[in-house]
Amino acid sequence: MTNEFEQELSRRLAAIREEGLYRELRRVDSAQSRQIRIGGREFLNFSSNDYLGLANEPVLKEAAKAAVEKYGAGAGASRLVCGSLAPYHELEETLAAFKGTEAALTFSTGYATAVGTITALLTQDDIIVLDKLVHACIVDAARLCGAKLRVFAHNDLRDLAEILQWADSRRGKAGEQGKRPQVLIVTESVFSMDGDFAPLRELVTLKEQYGAWLMLDEAHATGLYGANRRGLAEAEHVAGRIEIQMGTMGKALGASGGYICGSRALVELLVNRARSIIFSTAPVPAAAAAAKAGIEFVQSAEGPSRCAALWERVRQLKAGLSQHAAAKDQSPEFLSAIIPLILGSSEKALAMAGALRERGLFVPAIRYPTVARDQARLRITLSAKHTGEEVELLLRGLEECGKVEHP
Ligand SMILES: *Cc1c(COP(=O)(O)O)cnc(C)c1O
Repeated sequence: MTNEFEQELSRRLAAIREEGLYRELRRVDSAQSRQIRIGGREFLNFSSNDYLGLANEPVLKEAAKAAVEKYGAGAGASRLVCGSLAPYHELEETLAAFKGTEAALTFSTGYATAVGTITALLTQDDIIVLDKLVHACIVDAARLCGAKLRVFAHNDLRDLAEILQWADSRRGKAGEQGKRPQVLIVTESVFSMDGDFAPLRELVTLKEQYGAWLMLDEAHATGLYGANRRGLAEAEHVAGRIEIQMGTMGKALGASGGYICGSRALVELLVNRARSIIFSTAPVPAAAAAAKAGIEFVQSAEGPSRCAALWERVRQLKAGLSQHAAAKDQSPEFLSAIIPLILGSSEKALAMAGALRERGLFVPAIRYPTVARDQARLRITLSAKHTGEEVELLLRGLEECGKVEHP
């Protein structure tokens, strides 16, 4: 029996390898920072979403240690079962104040946030409309909730409008029989693998025109955009018109956990209906304390200077890459710390990532199913902690691997 099981798994693994899609975990023997240690060797790290370098920041580590001392290592059970430790409440108050919403609710991860929230809000009578490039957690949630699923071409408002029109007529018909379906649009503010931006102002106008709800995933924008670094919705002055603001505290905020910000009723409903909170042990209190310290950091005077350092490095890299055909133009208005170099095949992306690793540069090859099959790429991410010389080393490495004309 076991033998047959093992044979079947070997067959599947061989098929994955054959397609150039095999993945493995690389053990890192250092903290996550701009330098990481793998297999006894130091690499410059251009792979992390720790955009502001907060994952290894002393104030976050101190906050986590203090929480361990006071509240222990583990949470004991679901927050609804054994009581909800103070650090989660402090974090949620801090989040709501940071985002300027009535209330906030935190989850153990961004993934659990999407799954818990979408399945709590929609049933099979409803309609969910996704941008083609939204994160896997949103796709999984959309499938799980059972609502009718429609996908619009990436950032294509005309396509979205057509779908909303269709949803409207469906709503009209269903409404005559009693139950009016809800329509929820879900998109990201900064797309995780392309680093481009949703047309938020137009999107908000459109959803209002059709009476749809909007859920915006700010995973790669929280901490980076807007006067108070709340995200792209703040930068575009539309935050108050978005029903559900989602994000993670595992990226620019340097810690871990997901959040929903919105009205008090939304949070109350999720506490009652979001299965990923109800049926899951609360995160370690240290995670909540570190996340709160991360939010306070980006709100402090150091927030803008960290962001400025990040954008300076991004400008430097983009200038060096400007002749690179694979480097996509992202937005005239905003900069993004996610810089993809589209190479096409998995093999090409893997070969290039391998060649860069030989030069001490850690840049991930991103392949199917994270991106479309013919869209394999290197995904470069920068941190405020990278120095100008380090970005220069990356550019030189890319040049030596034959990908960039460098002056
Ligand atoms: C990373 C990511 C998530 C998931 O957040 P985690 O906290 O890592 O689970 C959700 N949405 C987007 C767009 C992401 O990039």
